[in-house]
Amino acid sequence: MQKFFLFLTRRSFIMKSIAAFVGFFISPSSGLARSNPDNSSWALTNDEWKQRLSSEVYKVLREEATEAPFSSPLNNQKQEGIYYCAGCDLSLFSSSAKFESGTGWPSFSEPLSGSVATKLDFKLIIPRTEYHCHRCGGHQGHVFNDGPRPTGKRYCNNGLALVFRPKT
Ligand SMILES: [Zn+2]
Repeated sequence: MQKFFLFLTRRSFIMKSIAAFVGFFISPSSGLARSNPDNSSWALTNDEWKQRLSSEVYKVLREEATEAPFSSPLNNQKQEGIYYCAGCDLSLFSSSAKFESGTGWPSFSEPLSGSVATKLDFKLIIPRTEYHCHRCGGHQGHVFNDGPRPTGKRYCNNGLALVFRPKT
């Protein structure tokens, strides 16, 4: 009897472990997906971010939402200039790194030095490399290894997460 009980306990432990494991990957509200700011002065509460940002920009930067493809006016932006984080205004990309990827999202071959940080993301089960603003932790997009030479990287960015300012 005791053995049977032990078996049940063990089984429920395993089931709980599996549920926790699956929940970790599929639960959007786990909070584990969010990136912490590198700079503590940008450690704002959700309410403070909501006051600063429009609701659609908030969803991308703070909840890692992805905007619809071909929806951003920045797709066709070809002027020389700098792309800044829509959360904290840190400069993230130069127009010289922008290229036409055909994906429907603004794409860059490399970020400005030290401007973004990455983490692994399992939202689509297959691991992807998420990247975010190094200063405020705001989600920008995902980086893939099918970009143009010499970097071979494609930083696939949400247009809503960026503000473009042309070179003056
Ligand atoms: Zn930022």
